[in-house]
Amino acid sequence: MYDVMIAGAGPVGLFLAGELGLAGCSVLVLERQAEPHSPSRVMPLGMRGLSAGSVEAFYRRGMLPALLAASDVRGPSPRAAGHFAGMMLDPAAIDDGALPFRLPSPAMEGMMTSLDAVETVLAERAVKLGVEIRRGVPVTAIAQDDEGATARAGEDEYRARWLVGCDGGRSTVRRLAGFAFVGTEPQLTGYVALADVADLEKLRPGFNLTPHGMYLRMRTPGHLGMMDFDGGAYDRSRPPAREHLQAVLRRISGTDVTLTGVRLASSFTDRAKQTTSYRRGRVLLAGDAAHIHSPLGGQGLNLGIGDAMNLGWKLAATVRGHAPAGLLDTYTAERHPVGARVLDWSRAQVAVMRPGAHAPALQGLLRELLETRDATTYVYDRLSGTSLRYDLGSDRPLIGRNAPELRLVDGTALGELLQRGLGVVLDFDADRPLRAAAGRWPDRIRYVAGPARDDLGLRAVLVRPDGVVAWAAADDGDGAGFERSAERWFGATADRATAGPAEVVRPG
Ligand SMILES: Cc1cc2nc3c(=O)[nH]c(=O)nc-3n(C[C@H](O)[C@H](O)[C@H](O)COP(=O)(O)OP(=O)(O)OC[C@H]3O[C@@H](n4cnc5c(N)ncnc54)[C@H](O)[C@@H]3O)c2cc1C
Repeated sequence: MYDVMIAGAGPVGLFLAGELGLAGCSVLVLERQAEPHSPSRVMPLGMRGLSAGSVEAFYRRGMLPALLAASDVRGPSPRAAGHFAGMMLDPAAIDDGALPFRLPSPAMEGMMTSLDAVETVLAERAVKLGVEIRRGVPVTAIAQDDEGATARAGEDEYRARWLVGCDGGRSTVRRLAGFAFVGTEPQLTGYVALADVADLEKLRPGFNLTPHGMYLRMRTPGHLGMMDFDGGAYDRSRPPAREHLQAVLRRISGTDVTLTGVRLASSFTDRAKQTTSYRRGRVLLAGDAAHIHSPLGGQGLNLGIGDAMNLGWKLAATVRGHAPAGLLDTYTAERHPVGARVLDWSRAQVAVMRPGAHAPALQGLLRELLETRDATTYVYDRLSGTSLRYDLGSDRPLIGRNAPELRLVDGTALGELLQRGLGVVLDFDADRPLRAAAGRWPDRIRYVAGPARDDLGLRAVLVRPDGVVAWAAADDGDGAGFERSAERWFGATADRATAGPAEVVRPG
């Protein structure tokens, strides 16, 4: 029996598999497709924008250099601020001073990559960590009991203590396990295509909102996107044909542009739905299996990577038997609201793009707002994902937030300390009682002491394995409660007297 079975070797399933492997769990990934690579996963159609939050997740697991190499880029992009419903943000208008708790880091900005690059890096890491990946075996039936879950995939049956459905927007696991999946029906059909265009100059570059929808001409010649407000009526069971794509493009662009061929094309809708919980018994969901929405603003992959970072260490602690009561349920409690906000973000963009007289009025208003620093900074902050904050029941400003890249004077950086997937205590005061207390969790928490380059007014912090601040002691003396917080996230420990400190003390 495996500890965890994952249905789907997409980016989210593979990220999660690596997290569980890192924590020493035995993991089996069952993937429907026999071949990991496909033309639609490489550039240009497989292009995906990673937010700063996702780039940071790769950095915090030591995978950023491999991701940059696989994506053929040297570093995270110079700030490309993104867009809202096709209205581009001006990077120069972002007020960095208004972005709270940011410290210099190799993962300050987002980057462009491809699904293929992301999956290749994640699969290599997962396999190195002992994860078994079986391809060409679609999960077709599941059952669960008090001890674990069983999945039928291909000709065989597999069993694990936990099953996680990372099998995408049309998730079989979600349906078979009986998750309630609720939300809004589509207003539009979207298309992406790599086409041969006889008269490309008839199309304006970039995003173009028109009275009939939106079309997008990207940098690679013939790489096109369209959003057609057909109420989601188009039959998506087959790839869209050239004649259909041309007719839609002509209608939306108001031109007589001619497509002479279509090399690759796919379609999507803006259906926005989410399961009401991310767990039913021994079955969990992550990524598109738990939430779907339009790709507007490129957030689905980022949301899924956030799910995997949040779930991985909690499920691993549950498997290993030291999870405090209720830890696994904090996965839904923390991630569901984040997903709901992204769904609303995508719905708001669709509302702004609708054909008719009302949406252009709204667009005008938004364009004026986006000329202000405040609005640009707000939208940038939402897209970058770095100001994420979970409600951990404290009104202290850092608690529940994604930790900034705190760094000691010797250069030791939080992002590097997190690479082992453990919690981290950074103690800038080398406080003896804190050192002794942290030593109670030597297998779960790394304790590192030394003066900080910029301590942000803190004396010490406890950061969870997913990079979220669980506890902080500030100069104003709120240092009590470290042990309470450590127990809340890392569970009860062995006898105090026998535990030894897992410490590293850096010179000042
Ligand atoms: C045109 C487009 C552009 C996008 N751009 C961006 C972007 O810029 N940024 C961003 O963040 N997001 C973007 N997204 C969204 C992003 O691609 C998805 O949110 C992301 O791929 C979801 O990852 P996943 O692993 O959850 O699911 P998937 O990528 O769908 O992977 C699911 C895996 O499960 C497998 N599977 C399915 N059924 C079974 C089964 N029964 N048994 C076993 N395996 C199964 C599939 O073969 C697949 O490998 C875009 C989406 C589209 C369509």
